[in-house]
Amino acid sequence: MDTVLLLAHSDATGGLPKAALEALSAARLLAGGAPVTVALFGADTTRAAAELAAAGAVKVLTVTDPALGQPRYATDAAAAAALVRASGATLVVAPATSRLARIGAGVAHRAGGRIDTHVAAVSSEGGAAVTRWYYRQRIEATLRRAERPWFLLVDPGAFPAALASGGTAPIEAVGVALPASRTAVSGERSPVSGEQTIKPEAKLLFVAGAGWTKKQADGQIHTARAEALVKGFLAVSGASLGSSKSLVDQAGEGNKVFAFMTHLNQVGQTGSTPRHAKGLATCCHGEEPHVVGWRFINERRAVNLDPNCGWARGKADVVYVADAFEVVAKVNALLKK
Ligand SMILES: Cc1cc2nc3c(=O)[nH]c(=O)nc-3n(C[C@H](O)[C@H](O)[C@H](O)COP(=O)(O)OP(=O)(O)OC[C@H]3O[C@@H](n4cnc5c(N)ncnc54)[C@H](O)[C@@H]3O)c2cc1C
Repeated sequence: MDTVLLLAHSDATGGLPKAALEALSAARLLAGGAPVTVALFGADTTRAAAELAAAGAVKVLTVTDPALGQPRYATDAAAAAALVRASGATLVVAPATSRLARIGAGVAHRAGGRIDTHVAAVSSEGGAAVTRWYYRQRIEATLRRAERPWFLLVDPGAFPAALASGGTAPIEAVGVALPASRTAVSGERSPVSGEQTIKPEAKLLFVAGAGWTKKQADGQIHTARAEALVKGFLAVSGASLGSSKSLVDQAGEGNKVFAFMTHLNQVGQTGSTPRHAKGLATCCHGEEPHVVGWRFINERRAVNLDPNCGWARGKADVVYVADAFEVVAKVNALLKK
């Protein structure tokens, strides 16, 4: 039987990333529902350790050091490797935060183990097994490995977050001499210009396609109106903004159409695969390379002038054959009420 460890870190505020509580659910499933040992590193681990202890853990191991206040490969990897060694775990489950995704493979190598990433489901029946997608969510595979320790990076959003249930667990500090660092973070620069439009927690994904920037029935382009309508919808609905490749590519060609949109908004084969309960595509044709990014969107609707668009061919639950300019203006007015 494997011994299971949840490996996580506290965030800049000393709190716990939500993805860590999701990974805790995955770790418990691998332990057959039993509590697992938890390992945490950060500049301040007090609050995050208490939260994990309350959520039910065998014990909480911590490495706390001011140097861990900044994400840095050398110090993060040294702390994580010491925690894994101290735990003696054979299965190490970690949330795929940017910090852990960066050090995961290196720490697995230092521990003489193996790593698998993008874990979307786990099972403990007949030994540990994990499920992940390949080739942009077209092929699903279940894997087992003989090598230990086996590191598993769990995709955010794939498991429900474990709830704090009033549990208690001993908290033990692990000693480690962190390497001297040559780098310091001097500040942060966000690639998103203006507003934050990507909201993984939103119930609705609103996709804007290139149609918003095409000539309309009057033979004219109405970019300013399109921008106002899309922004208006986001403001009243709280939806996350996705885009087709064609729309964000226009920005790359110097024709910045929607100032609040970047390639990070792109959904699809060469973009993201977000997880929202519902999706609404507007002015987007619904071609396969785009729709493959909708793999995890359960309820899909689209507004398109073309009754023969891709969405109408079995890719959406409902297609409104209508002018998205008119539909979104009307919806915005109704939602504002
Ligand atoms: C290797 C490869 C990878 C790719 N990866 C991706 C990817 O990751 N993501 C992605 O999105 N694409 C990707 N593509 C491109 C993809 O094939 C399509 O070209 C792209 O999705 C089309 O974008 P669109 O639907 O916004 O634009 P268009 O194809 O130009 O469609 C615009 C749509 O808007 C509609 N429209 C216009 N005006 C209105 C109006 N007033 N009301 C309602 N509807 C209106 C039109 O009827 C039309 O259907 C990839 C392609 C390749 C070859």
